[in-house]
Amino acid sequence: MRAMTEHLPGLRFLHSPGPTHLPDAVIAAMARQPMDLADPRVAATLAACEAGVRRLAGTAAAQPIFFIANGHGAWEAVVQNLLAPDALALVPGTGHFSESWARQTEALGRGVVRTPWTEGEPMDVDAVEAALRADLSGGRHRIAAVFMVHTDTASGTTHSIDAVRAAMDAAGHPALLVVDAVASLGAAPLAMDAQRIDVLVGASQKGLMLPPGVGFTLVNAAAMAVAAANPTPRFYWDWVLRVGEMPYQKFCGTPPLTLMAGMEAGLALLFAEGLEAVFARHRRLAGAVQAAVAAWADGGAVDFFCRVPAARSVSVTAISTAPGVDADAIRRTAREAFDVSIAGGLGPLAGRVFRIGHLGDLSAPMVLGALGGVQAALQQLRIPIGRDGVAAAVDYLALDSARATSGTRGEPR
Ligand SMILES: *Cc1c(COP(=O)(O)O)cnc(C)c1O
Repeated sequence: MRAMTEHLPGLRFLHSPGPTHLPDAVIAAMARQPMDLADPRVAATLAACEAGVRRLAGTAAAQPIFFIANGHGAWEAVVQNLLAPDALALVPGTGHFSESWARQTEALGRGVVRTPWTEGEPMDVDAVEAALRADLSGGRHRIAAVFMVHTDTASGTTHSIDAVRAAMDAAGHPALLVVDAVASLGAAPLAMDAQRIDVLVGASQKGLMLPPGVGFTLVNAAAMAVAAANPTPRFYWDWVLRVGEMPYQKFCGTPPLTLMAGMEAGLALLFAEGLEAVFARHRRLAGAVQAAVAAWADGGAVDFFCRVPAARSVSVTAISTAPGVDADAIRRTAREAFDVSIAGGLGPLAGRVFRIGHLGDLSAPMVLGALGGVQAALQQLRIPIGRDGVAAAVDYLALDSARATSGTRGEPR
């Protein structure tokens, strides 16, 4: 492996589903001296970030609360604020991230009801409804919240928020709906108020195009009321203590000024492009990656991990390898020989899945470059690829652009 400090000519491509590539405007915004906390520019930056994440999440009233933490920190805030010591969370199985959140909840002393997950499949929503009905049947219900992962980054699968909400309504269960949108916020549409999401969870280093370091929750009034009545001992994570005007109060101490300046700049980029255009770009680039994977799959050595095309995420594509084909070797070769960083399989998928991230500050030529590097790695390792995936992606993009310019743009997939 080469040393971090070694000079490498040209660009190194980062196509993990987080951390993601940083836009130049974000790097520039972060290259500045800190300010004193009473400087009105600090409050203005924080206000812009609050308004921006609200707009991205599709909420008029939910309270954004930021933590100097990663996504796991925001998960912890959800558990500590919403779950009284004897309350349960229902965690629908979606893959590695639902299981990690469930384990963290249990580590904090709370009970978890899980629904089963089948590899390669979207969430079993019927099982969610059944679990909620079973919880109500005993008289006093114990499930206080449903913790659902929107895009499970490990499986490259996006699960339907509306279907989960409908299951909760059908069961007549009063639990709060918490959605982990860490991997979808800024890449796919979210309408927190219209979809009746009570808490939305996000983090800085994915669709928001920032370095890691800020996790956040958007909390509606119902969830804030549950937190206010929750006797669980907590301080740093306490939502109620964070509501106020002073920057010092909002962050339970000194705000991460550099990251928030970057967030202000990153959000401004998304709104300048236009959210519809941002989401369309993600769909288009995902379509190009999927065209390449479909071509490679003809060789029989790799295939889509997610078997349901409509559930494949616009943020990341998970690719499973046939028995005997080492997914980690593909990842290593792509990075070390071709300067393309992709992600590996998580948890039980280690060694048999690799993942190409396609969210954040990306353009078509960046995606084509990444696909070229991955295909070169596959060829160097003598892994059979059926057709030329890069050519398939070029064809997809050319066709999609022609459709867009002729004004008869259909759904990219
Ligand atoms: C990345 C991710 C997380 C965890 O974020 P960290 O910042 O690594 O703690 C949680 N949920 C989803 C869906 C993710 O993609």
